[in-house]
Amino acid sequence: MPTDENAKKILIIEDEVSISDIIKFNLKKEGYECDAAYDGQAGLEKALSGEFDLVLLDLMLPKMDGFEVCKRVRERSSIPIIMLTAKEEEVDKVLGLELGADDYITKPFGMRELIARIKANIRRSDQMVEKAAEVSDVKDFGSLEIDMNRYQVRKNGEVLDLTLREFELLKYLAEREERVFSREQLLEEVWGYEYYGDIRTVDVTVRRLREKIEDDPSDPAYILTRRGIGYYFRRP
Ligand code: CA
Repeated sequence: MPTDENAKKILIIEDEVSISDIIKFNLKKEGYECDAAYDGQAGLEKALSGEFDLVLLDLMLPKMDGFEVCKRVRERSSIPIIMLTAKEEEVDKVLGLELGADDYITKPFGMRELIARIKANIRRSDQMVEKAAEVSDVKDFGSLEIDMNRYQVRKNGEVLDLTLREFELLKYLAEREERVFSREQLLEEVWGYEYYGDIRTVDVTVRRLREKIEDDPSDPAYILTRRGIGYYFRRP
């Protein structure tokens, strides 16, 4: 098969060679280019090489586990990361999202589902790049400035490094000041039908967002909790 210059490159970090090979085989069939790493250390190095468009990341890995890899990649890169978790690792999914994974998929998964997730995450990531080129539309919320078109947020003039989902959640709430939304509503409106996550995903994302935009994340001024109902945005 001829290589397509525009083909997206996927990095598979998974120590079980049989799983890695079957993923690679199926992704190549879909037109993706693939490379594999079989331990966390090698995976981290490749993930930071700048060559890839998306990372599939297993949790239990030799040398460095998937959480650590995820955390370290996020310190330097916003490349989409989909975590591969085992069924009983419910807690792990939340921790993974907390460390900055964009999505997760539970083993055993079907290839069709995996490919759908990959497509969705790459599309979102491409959108973010396109957004950066748009005309700015800055809304001023005191020390916080949100550029609604260009997906950029500044706090006291300094650009914050938000993930796409964090930005979209912030934008959604900020455009609807003072309106309270339940977790279910936010999951549906911000994450959309492509997402099969649970409502804790919303809590985790709010927490991460607060750590980035609030002076005191434990006493937030922008994104507030209405106990028993959900979240809302307020101009301080
Ligand atoms: Ca493993």
